[in-house]
Amino acid sequence: MTGWDDSEFAFELRVCRWAELAWERQMNVDGHAIVARQIGTKRRRWDTVIIECDPVGLAARSAFGSDELDSDLLDVLVHAPAEWTWYRDALDHPGYPWRYVRESIHRAADRGLLKTRKRGNRIEIKRIAPYPDWVNRIVAIENKPDLDASAARALSAQLTHDVRARLADEVWVATADTDGSVSPALLKAFPVEVGVLSCSFSDGVNADSTRVDWYPTAIRSDADREIKGGQRSVTKRLVLAERAYGRGFRSYHRTMRPDCRHFELKRDGRALLPACAAKGTLPTPRECSGSCPAFEPEPPIWRTRNYPIEGGPGKSVVRLLRERRRRQRERL
Ligand code: SF4
Repeated sequence: MTGWDDSEFAFELRVCRWAELAWERQMNVDGHAIVARQIGTKRRRWDTVIIECDPVGLAARSAFGSDELDSDLLDVLVHAPAEWTWYRDALDHPGYPWRYVRESIHRAADRGLLKTRKRGNRIEIKRIAPYPDWVNRIVAIENKPDLDASAARALSAQLTHDVRARLADEVWVATADTDGSVSPALLKAFPVEVGVLSCSFSDGVNADSTRVDWYPTAIRSDADREIKGGQRSVTKRLVLAERAYGRGFRSYHRTMRPDCRHFELKRDGRALLPACAAKGTLPTPRECSGSCPAFEPEPPIWRTRNYPIEGGPGKSVVRLLRERRRRQRERL
């Protein structure tokens, strides 16, 4: 740790940035990795998620904009036809009333993701582009900077669930580097398929901040592939990948207060992390909220120059974080 903060949240952001810098090289990944945080299902939320992408598919995905596509939109877009077709002929029966499908079609059309026209009473649809096969593998990392025997035991049940659920292709635990490798006694607490990374961020985040203490075993096989009988299906994995695509790991500004006069971004090696000038710390989203006793809105004078078009420093922070997410996603 760098000393200016050692919360799990800070560790998580550093692991995410390290993965963005180093995942493809360190893990010999052929393709492009997108990193996100706090993504999951109703039952399980992972700290760090890495989507290993097919570069051609990822480039094609950009035709559908930079926002995530939810499962209802995906149900339409994945099956949208190349030629004008009545939507009920083009799409599989959803298993729920068609009126909800029509809502999704209108939502997709409003976002420019689908072409629609009316023929009599019928809505016909046509795709703007084929929705691509862009997800190669999903890797989940559980971050536990202070890994001791009781933390390892507590994690064990979650990791066993991850291995059995086979939603991710690979599962890791990331912990703070102590003097040596993670002890065999701690490793024994985890399923053998789970990899272990030791992270040292004492010099800030850089591509060499981690070391592999235990390599994982792939927990999904070819039999788990999503294309069955030539038909693409909208799976939980695709929905997860879309969330990761839309959010990345810098979207913490949504749950913090960049509009507070004390909020700033601080460099930590090759990472840019949220910081509070009033407290001198990297605050957690829980601390950095409207109920924070030190919260002070940006003075209106800060916003006068380009306000309301560009906003004050808080708006600039959000713009910068979004721009970084876009550059990483599009590999600029
Ligand atoms: S003073 Fe409170 S709300 Fe403002 S940046 Fe610091 S932690 Fe966040």
